[in-house]
Amino acid sequence: MGMTLFDSPSFSNHEGVHAFYDEKTGLKAIVAVHSTARGPAVGGTRMWNYATAAEALEDVLRLSKGMSYKNAVADLEMGGGKSVIIGDSRTQKSPELFHAFGRYLNGLGGHYYAAEDVGTSVEDIAEARKVTEFVLGLKDGPEASGDPSPVTAEGVFRSNLVVARRLFNQNDMTGLTVAIQGVGHVGAYLAEKLHKAGAKLIITDVNQANLEAVAAKTGAEIVAPDAIYDVAADIYAPCALGATLNPQTLDRLKVKAVCGAANNQLATADIGDELFKRGVLYAPDYVINGGGIINVASEMNARQTGGAYDASWVEGKLSRLMETFEEILERSVAENKPTHLIADAIAEARIQAAADKKAAALKI
Ligand code: NAD
Repeated sequence: MGMTLFDSPSFSNHEGVHAFYDEKTGLKAIVAVHSTARGPAVGGTRMWNYATAAEALEDVLRLSKGMSYKNAVADLEMGGGKSVIIGDSRTQKSPELFHAFGRYLNGLGGHYYAAEDVGTSVEDIAEARKVTEFVLGLKDGPEASGDPSPVTAEGVFRSNLVVARRLFNQNDMTGLTVAIQGVGHVGAYLAEKLHKAGAKLIITDVNQANLEAVAAKTGAEIVAPDAIYDVAADIYAPCALGATLNPQTLDRLKVKAVCGAANNQLATADIGDELFKRGVLYAPDYVINGGGIINVASEMNARQTGGAYDASWVEGKLSRLMETFEEILERSVAENKPTHLIADAIAEARIQAAADKKAAALKI
């Protein structure tokens, strides 16, 4: 017999899990709301051809909990949630499917806001917006926050500067070499910023056009995809794939710090412990790549205040995020604990504090 929902380790006290089926469009979706303690749950909508509904459920539960943590460390007044649409994003999309999805979101009454993710596009979200207000990350209109990548890259860049100051005792990147894996949306912006700050760059990608464009602008050295782990660099900045910090790459990395944008960089949590033991500073991924979700959150802020996209609000949250990153690094040293565990502890404490405050207000 299969495992039930409540036995799944990923269930982890979710407030709600909602499954939707629309016969007309073939929509099969699961929305997981992990926590609304800090505000409405916000997290992207992933469209993926899951082999089984159980696999989709496992994915959405894991990802929604992750969003609670990411939104809390970014100090956003949002909880954590995520949704998945089961299907092939190349062949099974239709405007009607996203309208059906939007109508289901209306049924959740603002408990959860969806956004673009793997397999869905800004256009799909705009389609859903025709029937629901509970989506974020739009391209057009006064509230629209647009492409989050520049803000994500700015956060990762500032984190690199924090690392330069703490580990190398300098206020810019002069003389430091950064190895960037993936120069797509975020990686390309990051490369330019690091170059301007004086860093020497080594880059890799599987997309030749992206590589050439970035090398032309920054004078970066190009290496083959698999060679990026072996180069002589001070900082490794993963900006492509997840799980690149794993037992195979660990012994190859010569860097003093890992500081990049990719999600889920640690193949398993114990890799974070191992990096700590080896004296490699790991900048927790979901902390330093929070610029993107901050940019998306600005849309909810604009909607609540009846205003428009506000770059200064985004900047305020981004500076606050950098303070949290510094706090994580300081506590890691003071408490002799790996950074990823300190980040989780901060997120958990913030979520708990919000839950306690809500409970106190209800006098229960
Ligand atoms: P992207 O798709 O624009 O860029 C990824 C780049 O990595 C592409 O150029 C791709 O060709 C390259 N790549 C793919 N496989 C590779 C490989 N094996 N070796 C080297 N390069 C490879 O994506 P993005 O928006 O720049 O995001 C990059 C990472 O940052 C992702 O992990 C994403 O989840 C994460 N992230 C992005 C944002 C954002 O605002 N875009 C926010 C938070 C986290």
